[in-house]
Amino acid sequence: MNTLDRELSTRLARLRAQGLNRELRRIDSAQSPRIVLGGRVFLNFSSNDYLGLANDGALKQAAVAALHRYGAGAGASRLICGSLAPYHELEEAIAQFKGTEAALTFSTGYVTGIGALSALLGKNDIVILDRLVHASLIDGARLSGAKLRVFRHNDLNDLEAILKWAALVIHPPNPKEQAPPPRALIVTESVFSMDGDTAPLRAIADLKDRYGAWLMVDEAHATGLYGPNRRGLAEEMGVSDRIDVQMGTLGKALGASGGFISGSRILIDYLINQARSFIFSTAPVPSAAAAATAAIRFVQSEAGERRRNLLWERIDELSSSRWADGGRRPSAIFPIIVGDETKAVQAADALRESGIFVPAIRYPTVARGASRLRLTLTAAHTRLDIAHALSVLESVLDLGSQMDRHHLALKSGI
Ligand SMILES: *Cc1c(COP(=O)(O)O)cnc(C)c1O
Repeated sequence: MNTLDRELSTRLARLRAQGLNRELRRIDSAQSPRIVLGGRVFLNFSSNDYLGLANDGALKQAAVAALHRYGAGAGASRLICGSLAPYHELEEAIAQFKGTEAALTFSTGYVTGIGALSALLGKNDIVILDRLVHASLIDGARLSGAKLRVFRHNDLNDLEAILKWAALVIHPPNPKEQAPPPRALIVTESVFSMDGDTAPLRAIADLKDRYGAWLMVDEAHATGLYGPNRRGLAEEMGVSDRIDVQMGTLGKALGASGGFISGSRILIDYLINQARSFIFSTAPVPSAAAAATAAIRFVQSEAGERRRNLLWERIDELSSSRWADGGRRPSAIFPIIVGDETKAVQAADALRESGIFVPAIRYPTVARGASRLRLTLTAAHTRLDIAHALSVLESVLDLGSQMDRHHLALKSGI
């Protein structure tokens, strides 16, 4: 063993000892409510394919047509070798869907957050993040070099305290200041990816107006699912036009892959010029863009509305069980908090033995000691699927007292 491998195997052993080791599980089927692992069929409650579009005929057809017309690869960055028509069709479809002037797509949601934040902010600026935002937003905020402040999850008082401090920093009592005025950007999600709860977007928009900050909202888990036009939670809450930078992803409810920013034409022109993860990266394959365009058209259709309603029926069924955290605005994400990392893995193993595929989410995806099972529902699940999952949860896991959701254990007694 060379010294690098020796060092890495020590580090891996440390992760294993902490219950934090991760491994890939090979699936020999498409993403759908039923997946095949090692020759066995599992009921799948792990994907973000909320509308069941990842394996949908309309998306596959659009991808195949684009593959035949535009080929398998993109050739280079869109600024270098020309920008293929499918990206423009997709961006026009996104802008129209979101009701914004323009949109820009990126290869993934992850590089969307990185590219946008590092383009918009510099070291004189302040970026204010909800504690539970996605890694892409944290990484983008760090990369921007802006002063980083974190407010307690959904805590408006904490956010306001930071905004007050930021106002002092932004308007220093020095009239001779020549540098461009620093800015503060608030960054949050609409539906939080690992907790499934939602942000008080209206109150946050009120605060950003009061303190002259900007607001960026990542709708990765809400795009296609909320609002009269299924634009997202901001639409449902009536605050879309108060959000300066709207972000979404194409790989969750939209069933394809990629990420996007939608907003003013000026914002998009600026990102084309300054977002390094857009500029210095080969464009995604054209078939992915075509699949995403088909998904956006589907979501806007009557069939899309029916599909969304099916998802909400399934959500209601699970929401009324004791596994749900009642009293909050529902989403398709149901965390069952376990706490201990090793116990979370054992609980996921036990569910898998009973034919249910659910991921154990651990540090660093969530805080240490906040490990959980994360069940996600899709419109492609049936009523029977939900009923079956509930009965397996009952027989395998013991939720403990309703008052303390951290007392989850296996019935076999770990
Ligand atoms: C999944 C996710 C992303 C990243 O999107 P990908 O397309 O998977 O790279 C960004 N933000 C949030 C909130 C997410 O949940």
